[in-house]
Amino acid sequence: MILTTHALVGAAIGKYIHNPIMLTAILIPLHYALDVFRHGEYLGKKSTFKNTVWKIALDLFVGAVIILFAIYTKNISPAISISIITGAIISMFPDLLTVLYWKLNFKFLEKIYKFHQFVHRRFADGSKEREWNLRNAVNDILFSLLAIILLFI
Ligand SMILES: [Zn+2]
Repeated sequence: MILTTHALVGAAIGKYIHNPIMLTAILIPLHYALDVFRHGEYLGKKSTFKNTVWKIALDLFVGAVIILFAIYTKNISPAISISIITGAIISMFPDLLTVLYWKLNFKFLEKIYKFHQFVHRRFADGSKEREWNLRNAVNDILFSLLAIILLFI
């Protein structure tokens, strides 16, 4: 799923669970669990770093704006704000590893990369279920909305 979805889900859980070890133990498996659901991707085999980097930046920016807006408008305490931001970062972490492997080819990341590919196996790379369109964004939108509700209540 996109980084915004992962960040929002991590932030929402970080709002309620403040122990960073607990948070990590929940959010890393949850990242892979979310990736099992059908979702479109703006990053594919044909992507180059140049035509992808602005999409990643925009994706990070949208998630950050929503999270910071929630923290600001809900007057969330500094301690819980840190937990929310920590949750967002941990939640996106597996995709950072994927990008590092993809771009820099760190050999030690290969197994993690393969596992990330494995959870996506239901829909082959390049299949229409992985295309970047609104139909394939439905799960991203649903999980993001749920997370936004949890963040703002
Ligand atoms: Zn992922």
